[in-house]
Amino acid sequence: MSQYALLIDYKYCTGCHVCEVSCRKEHDIPLDEWGIKINEMGPKKLSNGEWIWDYVPVPSQLCDLCADRVAEGKKPRCVHHCLAACMELIPVEEAGAKLAEHGAKTVVYMQ
Ligand code: SF4
Ligand code: SF4
Repeated sequence: MSQYALLIDYKYCTGCHVCEVSCRKEHDIPLDEWGIKINEMGPKKLSNGEWIWDYVPVPSQLCDLCADRVAEGKKPRCVHHCLAACMELIPVEEAGAKLAEHGAKTVVYMQ
């Protein structure tokens, strides 16, 4: 049986926080904790002259990749609700190919 990983192509992330809220509701997580958290980088002009302004969603140790939902054949709650469709649950063995396909500003998280 495949292990799963969460792929996030954050170049399309709008920073809407819907993943944070939907994860909190799904897992009954208190307001001062996060199953996934949006980290904002920038806006900032870097020393090489390029600008950075990205939103990077980062799951915490509370993320179980929505194991109960996935066992029922459903998508993880954050993946289901992401308005930018930039999150995807993938088999771990596909992580390398998916990273190559999506290119820069893509991350894969495993639990
Ligand atoms: S996969 Fe599930 S537990 Fe993990 S961040 Fe998304 S909603 Fe939260
Ligand atoms: S729901 Fe999607 S677009 Fe919105 S903050 Fe989360 S990852 Fe980014």
